[in-house]
Amino acid sequence: MTTIQTNLQAVHARIAAACVRAGRPENSVTLLAVSKTCPATKVIDAISCGQNAFGENYVQEGVDKIIALANEHTRLNTTENQALNPVLNLTWHFIGPLQSNKTRLVAEYFDWVQSIDRLKIAERLAMQRPEYLPPLQVCIQVNISGEATKSGCSPIDLPVLAQAIRALPGLCLRGLMAIPEPSDDEALQYRQFRQLSGLLAQLNAEGFALDTLSMGMSHDLEMAILAGATMVRVGTAIFGERVIA
Ligand SMILES: *Cc1c(COP(=O)(O)O)cnc(C)c1O
Repeated sequence: MTTIQTNLQAVHARIAAACVRAGRPENSVTLLAVSKTCPATKVIDAISCGQNAFGENYVQEGVDKIIALANEHTRLNTTENQALNPVLNLTWHFIGPLQSNKTRLVAEYFDWVQSIDRLKIAERLAMQRPEYLPPLQVCIQVNISGEATKSGCSPIDLPVLAQAIRALPGLCLRGLMAIPEPSDDEALQYRQFRQLSGLLAQLNAEGFALDTLSMGMSHDLEMAILAGATMVRVGTAIFGERVIA
């Protein structure tokens, strides 16, 4: 087994244990493999053990990888090697900061965008999403730790932003995403994650039907799952330490 395969098994075991502890079924949590800075070969390694959802932070790097893997899939199919057929079912999530001059590529290549924090970005994505593709699945990134430097919409502005995004064609609002302040204190991690699940519950009580709570990374996925995460975004624990941030 390769390191990535061993790592993936270990992450699945952590997710399973956290689900048991939370009294939730294991299939209630989706593992998003964060492949930023990782070459396509490592992504293929993860795909070969059944991983099919990937997260990218940088637009050009992500698009290059999406194209490389689509080409790889075509090549393998034409050589009648079916081993990598699951490549067809890949979903690509954009999870990094998004500037308005980069929205077009994201709208054209990605399946999900989890890092929407203002209406202008959502409007551009809606306008630029090609009609031949299904709606772009989106999450609003919320700044739950309140640090001025972090991206994310403030909890106070969330209801108005969610209403506006819901009304846009070409987008399907699925839920909320957050990157809380890193901490080794599990009680603090849990409190921050509960804040995000509270915000989702509040929106749903106001008539939304959001099903995605994207929170938890390599170091804190257990507390995220305990607090109700439906998607954890894991990079380092699968692909190893990143050379570039
Ligand atoms: C890099 C990144 C992750 C993965 O972080 P790890 O600590 O490597 O698991 C998750 N979410 C976002 C938004 C990221 O930028």
